[in-house]
Amino acid sequence: MSVKYSVQAAALREALRYVRRNPEQNFARLINLVRPFVRMPWHREILQQADEMWADPGNNWRRFTERALRQLAPNVAEKIVMNFFLNAALIGAATARAVEAEHGCNVPWAILMDPTTNCNLRCEGCWAGEYARGAHLSLEELDGIIQQGKELGVYFYLYSGGEPLLRADDIVTLAQKHHDAVFCAFTNATLVTPELAGQLAEVGNVALAISVEGFDQANDFRRGAGTYAKTVRAMDLLREVGAPFGFSTCYHAENTEEVASEGFVDAMIEKGCMFGWYFTYMPLGQHARTELLVTPEQRQLMYERVHEFRAKKEIFLIDFWNDGPYCAGCIAGGRHYLHINAHGDVEPCAFIHYADTNIREATLLEALKSPLFMQYREHYPFNENHLRPCPLLDNPDALVGMVNRAQAYSTQRQDNEPVEVVADKCREAAKRWGPVADGLWQEQTAKAVKQAI
Ligand code: SF4
Repeated sequence: MSVKYSVQAAALREALRYVRRNPEQNFARLINLVRPFVRMPWHREILQQADEMWADPGNNWRRFTERALRQLAPNVAEKIVMNFFLNAALIGAATARAVEAEHGCNVPWAILMDPTTNCNLRCEGCWAGEYARGAHLSLEELDGIIQQGKELGVYFYLYSGGEPLLRADDIVTLAQKHHDAVFCAFTNATLVTPELAGQLAEVGNVALAISVEGFDQANDFRRGAGTYAKTVRAMDLLREVGAPFGFSTCYHAENTEEVASEGFVDAMIEKGCMFGWYFTYMPLGQHARTELLVTPEQRQLMYERVHEFRAKKEIFLIDFWNDGPYCAGCIAGGRHYLHINAHGDVEPCAFIHYADTNIREATLLEALKSPLFMQYREHYPFNENHLRPCPLLDNPDALVGMVNRAQAYSTQRQDNEPVEVVADKCREAAKRWGPVADGLWQEQTAKAVKQAI
């Protein structure tokens, strides 16, 4: 750790403690203290926005900050700010860009890993349902990936599954060992106990993204009877001890209107969710029902609602498919993230079940330089319209071409599908979304031009 890093970290930690003592007065004072030292124009812009945000007590981001300071245990707020903003976003990103330039490959910002394919639920359309059960990444393998990742500049790790909390002890062990990284587990939360909630609050750098698909009826439709009640009980346990969590929602043809409603988002805020992550249903696996794919009207509704809520609700919302404009299109293939499944296959994305490299036989850097990842790098963006970013859901021919050129294999060991079959299932949805997305894109571009003039 360099002297410069230690000084920056200590200053940030002190600043946080200062704000926490009296947020009302000290937040504005801190901005004024920092102002003379800011040199970069975009840093000045951020400071200006923070100033404006704090000047308005009704501003949703001010209310969000106040809620976070009130709700989260002190070490949680500190770990998240230090690890996420300082280590992952600033220091890690700089290292990653240097490695990228040296090796001519993508280096991600985040790595998603599956500790296990086992799960205590069986939800229809879950990507994990299509991997054979009984596969695991050992504690040593997970640790090895994190160690390699940090050397490349990656400080953000996510877990999916299977149900990652079947490996809760290992997750806590890794968070303790890699106390400079930040972790997030996508979980059904039915295994959260008061003891585990306490451990998560104490370790401070693991957030839970809790799967919920609407209120009880809509949720239990795909996830099984009684699941909603267990989910909200877990939220109560986590909130009471100040552990960080949010919701993770799959929207599909039957629940979009409900999960895009103000009532749903308000209920999640009331339960203590600090963030919410929306994903859309993907027809993965031979038994997946294509009729659960959202209509273009539903996808547009989600796009509009998330924008509306971002401007007024005290919660951080992400829409995995419709937020392409914020990250200039698809983030997969190591551009910003990748997925390593419980068999060790290194996939470009959790929804793209093809690989040509296994982490048990290659280093992380070798995986990033593999033919499939280089195909992603070469062919990105898959559409000039970032509201149609996906090489599967929006541009299915793009994925077929990349998988075939890289001679990648299907990673669904029990229910594998040729890439042409998966692509065919998305073709109609892609065709129907195209004109709607193009209309929204033109509107957005026109608005941006108007603001710039
Ligand atoms: S491959 Fe599709 S789902 Fe995955 S990150 Fe890219 S756009 Fe999103």
